Amino acid sequence: MNSHYRVVVIGGGVVGASVLYHLAKFGWSDVCLIERSVLTAGSSWHAAGGIHALNADPNIAQLQAYTIDLLSEIEKESGQNIGLHMTGGLTMAGTPDRWEWLQSAYRTFQSIGIDDCRLVTPEEAQELNPIMSIDGLLGGMWADREGYIDTTGTVHAYAGAAKKRGATVVEHNRVLELNQTLEGWDVVTEKGTVSCEHVVNAGGLWAKQLGRMAGVELPVSPLQHHYLISDTIPQLEEIDFEVPMTVDLEGFTYLRQDQKGVLLGIYEMDHKHWAMDGAPWEYGMELFQEDVDRIENELTMGFERYPCLQDVGVKTWVNGAFTFSPDGNPLVGPVPGKRGYWSACAVMAGFLQGGGVGKSLAEWMIHGQPEADVYGMDVARYGTYAENKQYIKETTGQFYSRRFVMTYPNEQLPAGRPLKTSPAYSDMTAVGCKWGASFDLEVPLYFAPQGFEETPSLRRSNAFDIVADECKMVRASVGLLDISGFSRFEVSGPNAEEWLNHVMASRLPSPGRARLAPMLSEDGRLKGDLTVFNWGDGTWWIMGSYYLRAWHMRWFNDHMVDGVILRDLGEEMVGFSLSGPKSRAVIEKLTDAPVGDLPFMGCGAFDIGMIRAKVGRLSVAGELGYEIHCRMGDHITLRQALLNAGGHEGIREYGFNAMLSLRLEKSFGIWSAEFTQGYTPGMTGMDRWIDWDKDFVGKTGAMAEREGNGPDQVQVTLEIDAKDADTSGYEPIWSDNKQVGFVTSGGYGHTVQRSLAMALVDQGQSALGTELSVHVVGVERPARVIAASPYDPAGQVMRG
Ligand SMILES: Cc1cc2nc3c(=O)[nH]c(=O)nc-3n(C[C@H](O)[C@H](O)[C@H](O)COP(=O)(O)OP(=O)(O)OC[C@H]3O[C@@H](n4cnc5c(N)ncnc54)[C@H](O)[C@@H]3O)c2cc1C
Repeated sequence: MNSHYRVVVIGGGVVGASVLYHLAKFGWSDVCLIERSVLTAGSSWHAAGGIHALNADPNIAQLQAYTIDLLSEIEKESGQNIGLHMTGGLTMAGTPDRWEWLQSAYRTFQSIGIDDCRLVTPEEAQELNPIMSIDGLLGGMWADREGYIDTTGTVHAYAGAAKKRGATVVEHNRVLELNQTLEGWDVVTEKGTVSCEHVVNAGGLWAKQLGRMAGVELPVSPLQHHYLISDTIPQLEEIDFEVPMTVDLEGFTYLRQDQKGVLLGIYEMDHKHWAMDGAPWEYGMELFQEDVDRIENELTMGFERYPCLQDVGVKTWVNGAFTFSPDGNPLVGPVPGKRGYWSACAVMAGFLQGGGVGKSLAEWMIHGQPEADVYGMDVARYGTYAENKQYIKETTGQFYSRRFVMTYPNEQLPAGRPLKTSPAYSDMTAVGCKWGASFDLEVPLYFAPQGFEETPSLRRSNAFDIVADECKMVRASVGLLDISGFSRFEVSGPNAEEWLNHVMASRLPSPGRARLAPMLSEDGRLKGDLTVFNWGDGTWWIMGSYYLRAWHMRWFNDHMVDGVILRDLGEEMVGFSLSGPKSRAVIEKLTDAPVGDLPFMGCGAFDIGMIRAKVGRLSVAGELGYEIHCRMGDHITLRQALLNAGGHEGIREYGFNAMLSLRLEKSFGIWSAEFTQGYTPGMTGMDRWIDWDKDFVGKTGAMAEREGNGPDQVQVTLEIDAKDADTSGYEPIWSDNKQVGFVTSGGYGHTVQRSLAMALVDQGQSALGTELSVHVVGVERPARVIAASPYDPAGQVMRG
C-alpha cells in the first residue's frame, strides 16, 4: 500500500470492486481498494447471484442491462470464472392489473432499447419452466439476458481485472478514520494513513459508519432477507436444461436452479431491519437464524407455485442482510458539501446494478458527469430531511415489503409522511385537499368532496372528473394553487449577475423581469429548466422544481465563485399562484399598487393585502396569472386574503394534477420528463432560450449540436386516440412497425378534450400531421403529430 493514491475505494464487495475496475478501465490506475476483511466479506458472499432486467426506472434498467453484458467481459479480462448461467428469465403476473402492467413494462423496455424480451402465455411459461405451477397466472415476460452468477467469483473477477490494469487491492485493513484535507482526504487505516484526492464509500453494510466518519448521514439501512436452497429435485434430474430465473410477483418469490435443486428467495411482507446504525465492526461472514414463522405466507405461496418443493427437503437456509435507500435505488455520486467524498452505497442488487454503478461513478469522477442520466440513483435526490432514522426506517421498510407489490401511477404511499407541510396544509385539508409527496414536502394534488377515495388504477382514475372540473375552472375564471412546492434560490453579492450570466445559458432578465433559463452541463446537455427573476434591487431568484433542491444546490456550489451569496429559500418562502382570466381582477382587489400593470414575465415586490409579497406575472397553466411569494409565516393569511378577494370571481383551489394537464395543453415541458440531464437543448427546444452571443457553461457542446446536423430526435406534441387511459412516459412510438421515438409525458387535456403526449421522435417523423401509433398501457393506439400548444397556440391569454 502506497502512502498516496488518486482514489481510495473503501469496501471490497461487488460495488467497490466494480468502481475500482471502471476507474482503472477509464485510465485512472493510481487507485486502491481497501477492504476490512477479505473481498466479498459484506453482503456479497451470500447473495443469490440472480441477474434480471426488470426495474421500474428505465434508466436504471438500462444500467442493469449494461451490467449483465459486462459480466462475461470481466470474466475474460480477469481469467476468473464467474459461473455465469444465462438461463433466461421469466417474470410472472397473477392479477389482471399486473398482467396489464407487465405488458406496458415490456413496451417500456422496447422504448429504451432492451429488445430481447417477449411476452409469454402461462402455458409457454410452463414449458420454459416445467417445475412451475401456472395456477392463477395470467401471463409473463421472458428475457434472454437473465440468469445467475457465482458471487465470489464475480467480485474477484472485477478486482482481478482492475489489478491487471494497475489498480491495487489491500485486504485485512480496516479504515478507522477519514479526515478532510485541502487536497482531498486522509484515510486512516489499521496499516497506516493514506492520502487521496477522492474517497469512495462502498462500505455496503457499514456504509452508515463510513459516512459518519466524514460527517455524512446517508439515508440507508440494512434489512434481512431469506432464501433457501432445496435438496435435489428428481424432476430437474430428468430435464436436460436449467430452468430459468423465475420471479412470481404475486407470490413474493424468485427462483433459480442450483445444481439439481433450486434456490428460492423471498421478499417478506413482514420485513425486519438490522443494525440501522451500520453492522458491528466485528460482524464476520455470518448469517442470521432463519425465521420461518415470519415468512410463512410467502413460503406457502412459493411451495404452491413450485409443488416439487413439497417433496424435498431444504438443504440450506440463508438469512442475510443487505442495504436499502428510501426508494430502493442506490445512492451514488458526489456527496453534497463534501468535496472529494463519493457515495456508492445502498446498492440493493449489487450483482445486477454494480456494473452500472461502477461505470457511472468512474465517469462522474473522471469526466465530471456520467454518460447516462443517473438522477434516479443520485445521492443528491435526497436532502437532509432523509437523515432522520424514523424516516429511513419507514421508507426502507415500505420499499422492502413492496418490492414485488405493484405501485399504480396514481398511488400515494404513506411511509415517511406527512413530513414537511406548508402552513396552510390544515386549512386546505379541511376543504378536501388530497396530497402527494415531493422531496420532503406535501403538495396538493386535487380537492375532493368529503369521503372521496381515489382508486389506484393504470387507467384514468375516479379522480378524473374532479381534475377536469379544476381545469375548466382555471380556464374559465380563476384558480388558486399552493406553489410552496417550487424551489427558490436567492442570488446576491457584487458578482451575482456575472455568475448567473455564466451558469445560465439564456440572456439574463432586465430589472423587474423574469426569463426562462436553461442551465447546461459542461458537455452541453441540460442541467436545469429554470426561471431567473431580476428583482431590480441587486437580488435575483432562480426558481425550479422543488424536488431538485439539493441536486441543484450541489451544482451551484460546484460552480461557485467569490462575491456571490447563494441562499436556498426553501425553508423561508412559500406562495400561491393565481391563474385564469379573472386573476388580475382578484389581485387588484388586494392592493392599490400597480400589480395589474405588470407585463407578461414582469416581476416586483408589492403589498398584497397585509403581506409584503414578491410577485411574478407568469403561469405554468398558460393563463393570465400571478405567482405570489410570501414568507412562510404569511402563507395562511395570504391564502385567506386571495380566497376572500376572489369570492365574486368564483375562485377555487386546485392542485398539481390539474396543473399537469393544463401545462400539457400548452406543450410546456417539465423536468424528469421532457427535460432531463440526458437530453440536449436542440432535442428539447430549449435552444430557443439560449443566448449564443455570450459565454456560458456548456456552450461548446451546445454549439456543436447547433452547427452539426441537428439532433436525431426532436420534441413533438401528439394527440392519441386513447379511450380510457393515457400515456405517462417511456411508451414506444411506432411508424409502420418501426420504433421511431418514445413518450416523455402524457395525460388528458381537459380543455381540448383530447389525450395528449409530448414525445421525442426521429427527425423524419416530426412533421405536423404525421400518423404514428403509441402503446397506451400495453395496447397500440393511433396517434398523430399536432402543432405545439393545442390550447391557445398564439399564447394570447397568457400575455393578455
Ligand atoms: C440473502 C441475499 C440475497 C441476495 N441476492 C442477490 C441477487 O440475487 N442479486 C443481486 O444482485 N444482489 C443480491 N443481494 C444483494 C447483494 O448482496 C448486495 O447488493 C451486494 O452484495 C452489495 O455489495 P456492496 O459492495 O455494496 O456491499 P458489501 O458486499 O456489504 O461490501 C462492503 C464491503 O466494505 C467493507 N468495509 C466496510 N467498512 C469498511 C472499513 N471501515 N474499512 C475497510 N473495508 C470496509 C466490508 O468488509 C465489505 O466487504 C442479496 C443479498 C442478500 C442478503
